[in-house]
Amino acid sequence: MYTAVQIDSNMTLEEALAEIEIPRHIRELLKIVTISYVSFDDHIHEGQLVVHKNIADDVVEIFSAISKTGFPIHHAIPIVKYHWDDEASMSDNNTSAFNYRVIHGTSNLSNHSLGLAIDINPLFNPCYAIDGSVQPALGKYEPSKAGTIRPDDEIVSIFTSRGWRWLGHRERKDWQHFDKVDAV
Ligand SMILES: [Zn+2]
Repeated sequence: MYTAVQIDSNMTLEEALAEIEIPRHIRELLKIVTISYVSFDDHIHEGQLVVHKNIADDVVEIFSAISKTGFPIHHAIPIVKYHWDDEASMSDNNTSAFNYRVIHGTSNLSNHSLGLAIDINPLFNPCYAIDGSVQPALGKYEPSKAGTIRPDDEIVSIFTSRGWRWLGHRERKDWQHFDKVDAV
C-alpha cells in the first residue's frame, strides 16, 4: 500500500536562519538537510535539520537507520519556526539541531551553536539540570513511552557507533541530547 510521505518542513537554509543575527563565520559552516523518519502516526515523514556541514551526510544516514528501527520522531523543523525559542520548540516535542544559544544556566555557547548537536523528542526526553529544574518545563521522562530514549535502545548505539556522545547517562541528565564535538 502506498501512502504519501508527510512533509513536516521544506525550507531553504536562508529561511531556516532568518530572524536572528548569526556570525558570518558560523553561518558559512551550516547546511540544511532533509531527514526521513517514522512519526507517531506510523507514517513516514520528511523533516529538516540545520547542522554543521561536516556531519550533514552522517545525520541523514543516522535518521535513515533510526527509521528502520521504528523509533518514532514526532517531527523535525528548524527552530526558526518557534522564533528561536528553545522552550517552545521542546514543548512541541520538536527534534532540532542548530540553535544559536548558550547552555541553559551558563554563558557558554552550546554545541547546538555550531550545529554539532541534536535534541530528539525533547518533551519525552527532557533535560534535568543538577539544580532539579527541567527543560522543557512540562517534560517528563517516562521510559515506557514510545519515542523515549533508553540506554539500551538501538537509537543510542546508532549514534555512538558513529562517534557521537549521548548525554542521557551524565550527572546532568540530558536525555534528548546527542553531539559530535570532534567533528571540527
Ligand atoms: Zn541539546
